[in-house]
Amino acid sequence: MAYYIEKGCIGCHYCELECPVSAIYIQHGFNQIDQDKCIECGACVDRCRLDLIKSTEPEPAPTPHDPVELNCQVLVVGAGGVGTGAAARAADLGLDTILIEAAKWYGGGTWFAHGGQFPGAKRYYGRIGKSSDIEPQVQFWLRNQKNGYRNMDKLRSNIAANGEFLDWFDELDPGNTAPFVPAQPGAPVAFDMKERHINEKSNDDSIGPGWMGSWITEKLFETAMKKGVRYFNRTRAVELLTDGGRVTGVRALDPGGEVLIRADAVILGTGGYMMNDVRMRAIDPDMVKADPVASYLRLNVPTNVGDGHEMVEKIGGAVDYTRGGTRGPTHHPYSYAVNMMLMNPEAVYVDETGVRCFDLSNDRMGGGAPITGPNCPASEIILRQKSGLCYLLMDKNMLELFGSRLTRPLDNGRPCPWREEVEAEVALEDVPGRKADTIPALAEKLGMDPEVLSATVRRYNGICAEGLDQDFGKAPKYLQPIQQPPFYAFAVRNFDNGASRGGISIDEDFRVLRPDGSVIPGVYASGDAATYSWTENIGPVGLCGGLAGSWASGYHIAELVRDYLHTVV
Ligand SMILES: Cc1cc2nc3c(=O)[nH]c(=O)nc-3n(C[C@H](O)[C@H](O)[C@H](O)COP(=O)(O)OP(=O)(O)OC[C@H]3O[C@@H](n4cnc5c(N)ncnc54)[C@H](O)[C@@H]3O)c2cc1C
Ligand code: SF4
Ligand code: SF4
Repeated sequence: MAYYIEKGCIGCHYCELECPVSAIYIQHGFNQIDQDKCIECGACVDRCRLDLIKSTEPEPAPTPHDPVELNCQVLVVGAGGVGTGAAARAADLGLDTILIEAAKWYGGGTWFAHGGQFPGAKRYYGRIGKSSDIEPQVQFWLRNQKNGYRNMDKLRSNIAANGEFLDWFDELDPGNTAPFVPAQPGAPVAFDMKERHINEKSNDDSIGPGWMGSWITEKLFETAMKKGVRYFNRTRAVELLTDGGRVTGVRALDPGGEVLIRADAVILGTGGYMMNDVRMRAIDPDMVKADPVASYLRLNVPTNVGDGHEMVEKIGGAVDYTRGGTRGPTHHPYSYAVNMMLMNPEAVYVDETGVRCFDLSNDRMGGGAPITGPNCPASEIILRQKSGLCYLLMDKNMLELFGSRLTRPLDNGRPCPWREEVEAEVALEDVPGRKADTIPALAEKLGMDPEVLSATVRRYNGICAEGLDQDFGKAPKYLQPIQQPPFYAFAVRNFDNGASRGGISIDEDFRVLRPDGSVIPGVYASGDAATYSWTENIGPVGLCGGLAGSWASGYHIAELVRDYLHTVV
């Protein structure tokens, strides 16, 4: 028997940190098991939340069963952010609820996410000694929304609705919110976790499990279980059942056969379609290339293939497959240190030919990370590279500066071993990093024309001396020359975390719509499955998409479903 890792690894590092003999290593962006070192202890298997670590020993065949029939008031499909929020709240409201999940583990893509925006929590803010007046939070949002926000009434009601979720979550158990800390100084609404809660061994703070995504999801799941939700994992919904135009349940498949679940209302929290190669290629043929390194790094669970979308389409619902998710430049899943280095505003980026190609210093969120989004221009440039790679270019001074900023304030102040991580990466034969004493030598290691890279560096240093970036408009305070050897180049590739902007068409009450805008009764959708976005004004919590929006919308859908049930039962 041997162990191996299936396609779909997102480089969370959990398995490799569990391995007692360091048999797990990263190659071409994905973790692999070194068969010569592996002692077949099996310890890594259950560390993989994506259930990708398999043994060559055939699994026992599932026991086939006759079709099973189940009944409930509310069926929640998908146990990620939306699903756990909806199931916990539905049960809290006394509704007979079933939650099904296609994967082995609950959590979905939400499990890996970091922190969220929680404006509007009056009670909780009051309890922790913050102002419960939501107006400063409205103003904060306005200052941070680059795309502008016009409908002030909607903005205020969105913020209040989002806050209701956090107040309820805190009221369930004050311990639920105990590990939260403000994510950015001066930001009244953004929270993160004080420290990773699941596996202190991880040396990569850029991705969960362990942060808010898994913490809140776990608490909601536990609440759902305590309040009597019936949960079935490895149960994949494949068809919506209808009666007289109304959705009345789903047909699902578990390992043993068919499961028919009749429900008065169905909530789809089935995530995005980011892991569906065919759909993604249709958005952009270059996103999923034969070479996995040149492709987008798709950070999501393998089960998010758009099942909810397809089920809705089959019953005549409207679905938009034209828009991708939150994308942008990243170095992940190699080392945390280098990934964070490319977040610095002084960073200089060159394309695969050695020409300076984009600058992200003027386009950053409060926390310093480059803004990413469905139309991220840097991402478009990376996509156009044959190799799928651009490079972060640094000299020794820049490396020292970026390294000195890596003190991990969120992780017990532990120092980051960034020197070791940088040296480990330049020693890899894989693409991530190269180091050389001269720019031409660095260019040669990268397969670039040395003259082109040297000309880029000469011009950039001239810009720094002049203090005026005529090429990309980098602010003078961030202009730092590339002059002190050794010189470094680290690969920058595209990522997409699957937080879809396209998806199932919904109205402001999360009800699924037909192409003519009419409502299909009995079915609701939200989160990555639906059409909301951070800046589009859809749904009571449409403003706060992503992580916070998934739980908060699930919470509100449960309330909307309760009201709907009064009309149909
Ligand atoms: C790595 C990563 C980092 C992120 N970081 C942040 C962040 O820091 N801040 C932020 O705001 N947002 C972040 N996001 C985005 C945010 O996490 C998502 O937008 C949000 O959590 C999506 O929640 P969801 O419930 O819609 O989907 P998911 O949590 O993905 O849940 C979907 C679930 O549905 C299940 N499913 C799919 N099909 C079926 C079926 N047919 N039957 C049964 N079950 C099914 C899936 O297995 C999955 O468990 C991040 C996302 C990722 C992946
Ligand atoms: S089975 Fe054990 S030894 Fe082998 S890779 Fe997994 S943890 Fe390491
Ligand atoms: S997803 Fe994480 S735990 Fe699973 S194989 Fe990849 S690195 Fe290991």
